[in-house]
Order: sequence, then C-alpha cells, then structure tokens
Amino acid sequence: MRIDSDPKLDFDDVLIRPKRSEAPSRSAIDLERKHKFLNSGATWKGVPLVASNMDTVGTMAMAKVLGPEMMVCLHKYYSDEDLIEFFQNDHRTSVFFTLGIKDDEFEKLRRVKQQADVRFVCVDAANGYTRFFVERIKRIREAFSDLTIMAGNVATPDMVQELLISGAADIVKIGIGPGSVCTTRTKTAVGYPQLSAIIECADAAHGLRGHVCADGGCRYPGDVVKAFAAGADFVMLGGMLAGHDECEGEWIEEDGKRVSMKFYGMSSQTALDKYAGGKKDYRAREGKEVVVPHRGPVKETIQEVTGGIRSACAYVGAARLKDMSKCTTFVICHRPQAGMFHREFGN
Ligand code: 5GP
Repeated sequence: MRIDSDPKLDFDDVLIRPKRSEAPSRSAIDLERKHKFLNSGATWKGVPLVASNMDTVGTMAMAKVLGPEMMVCLHKYYSDEDLIEFFQNDHRTSVFFTLGIKDDEFEKLRRVKQQADVRFVCVDAANGYTRFFVERIKRIREAFSDLTIMAGNVATPDMVQELLISGAADIVKIGIGPGSVCTTRTKTAVGYPQLSAIIECADAAHGLRGHVCADGGCRYPGDVVKAFAAGADFVMLGGMLAGHDECEGEWIEEDGKRVSMKFYGMSSQTALDKYAGGKKDYRAREGKEVVVPHRGPVKETIQEVTGGIRSACAYVGAARLKDMSKCTTFVICHRPQAGMFHREFGN
C-alpha cells in the first residue's frame, strides 16, 4: 500500500480568480471549438458540450435539439432500425453511436455502419482500465479507420496515454466516480477528484495531440466552466440535462402535467432491472435513482450554461473558449459550495 499525498481537487475546492482584461463583450465571445482528431483525422466544429449516453438523456430528441452545434451520445438501447433511420438523415454530424465492450454490441455497430454514415462512436465502460477494454478499442479502430472514437472512463494520465496510443482512440472520457447518480465512491472507495483528473489527463492527452471529455460531476454552469478551465476539450452532462422535455423515461404527472422524472445511474438497480434482467449476485449497484423536477425545454438550460461560460471568459480576459484554460488561475477554497439534490446520499 502507498499513499499519494499530493492534494487533489474537486470542482467545489476551487474558484476562478477574476482578472483585469480587454475581453470583448459577452456576446462577442466565441464558444466554438475546432478539433482535428488524432487517429481518425476527422475534424469537428461546434460548442463542445456533450449529452451523456444515459438512457434518459442520450436521446434522439436531444440530438435533434442540440445538434449539430453540440454533441449527443445516443444511448445504446435503440434498435438497429431506429439507429439506421436516424443516422441516414441530417442529424449525424455531431452524434455518437454508443456501445459497450460486448461482441454483440460490436456487431450492432458493424450492421448500422454498413447502412448509415456513423462518424462518431462512444465506447463506454464503467472501468476503462482493463486490458480487454484497450483491445476492444483497438479492434474498433482496425475495423473502421475513419471513425472518431471516444473511449472511457478513466481518470489518470497513464491510461489516457494507453488509450490514445495502444487503443488508437481520439477522445478519452475522464471521470471515475463523480457522476450525480453514481455511487462508485461510496460502494468501492475508488475514484479521483474530478478537477485534478481533468487537469492531469488533459495535459497527458494534449501532449499527444489527443483530446479529453470531462464526464460527470457538473451540477451548475460554474462546474462546466471549471472543467473547461481545467483543460477539458469537451464536457459531458448527465444530471444537468435530466428532467427536460427531450428526455426519455418515467415522468411523474399531476393533473395531466409533467412535474418530475426519474433519473438513475446506468448501474443502478433501476437500469439493471430494465436492461440486464436484474443485478448479478457478485456485483454491487454503483448507481442510484433520484427524482428531478420537470424543467421544460433543454435549450433554456443550455443557454444558462453557455451564458455562464461567456461570462467566465469575460471575467478572466478570454476572447474565446479556446483561451479559457490559459487565462485561468484557480484559487483553492476548501469550502463546500451549495449542495444540490443529487449530492445527497440516498439508496
Ligand atoms: P452527471 O453529469 O450526472 O454528474 O454524470 C454523468 C455521468 O455519470 C455519465 O456520463 C456516466 O459516466 C456516469 N454514470 C452514469 N450512470 C452511472 C452509474 O450508475 N454508476 C457510475 N459509477 N457512473 C454512472
């Protein structure tokens, strides 16, 4: 056993220092990023927010509203037919096909890709540290050299490098345990403070011209700002997008009107019952279920987020989101900021 005594930071441990600046007005701040991906060679341009591939949030309705400017990882439970139809029409330029590491999921990708123009895939595993996971990414790369592959999750630079070099991934997804409905940290004690994970992993990826997507733990627009300021190229959102009109799932209604919806982790009992025929005896549930209020159209929440980013850029003197990280000085403030529904321990 050893102890790493370097301090590691979460979103709540920092704020960003304001600076005197020549920043343009908020409306002139450019939130668009242009990325060229390391292994696929493809390019992408847009506002680098990504809807998580959770079954409530990674929906086709979400893709229709957020795309093509922003990205969506479709959840992996759509049928072949629905995916083929979807990817055959216009919404494909910012949408990820999601798969896990099972052979039948790989075969599904092959079938859909034969009939439709899938350009982005998100290969999602709770634990991206296994040799099998790296081998799977490599196999996808060998089969489809043109695909832009996002792979994860991991939280340390060694594994970011492994996935970019040996796996030939393009974007590595960062986050072990920070998710709003994730219980990995309380069930297994495994995790890594998300702000430090982003800082360390972005540094490793950028050294290789790879990219990182910060995944999990953003509860407020300010957390999204901190993730970009820490060096994230993309920021993935689950809980912040839950409860909107574009979500799929179980709504709770009163007088015929939606008031709230169930939002749950993809390893929660709810998800395991729905998709895996219940929990296997040897596994712990690493997710929980919460109820979130109905929040109307997602565009309004997205405007809050983009407004927060613009304002942050103005405070630190960044004319573009691209410059945010280099303009940032984090100040450490070991003071918990306000809690929110999904920070409470439940289940
Ligand atoms: P959020 O934005 O809600 O804080 O985090 C979303 C992320 O949490 C997802 O993109 C995914 O990486 C992670 N996640 C979703 N469901 C579960 C789960 O059941 N267990 C764990 N450990 N992580 C989850």
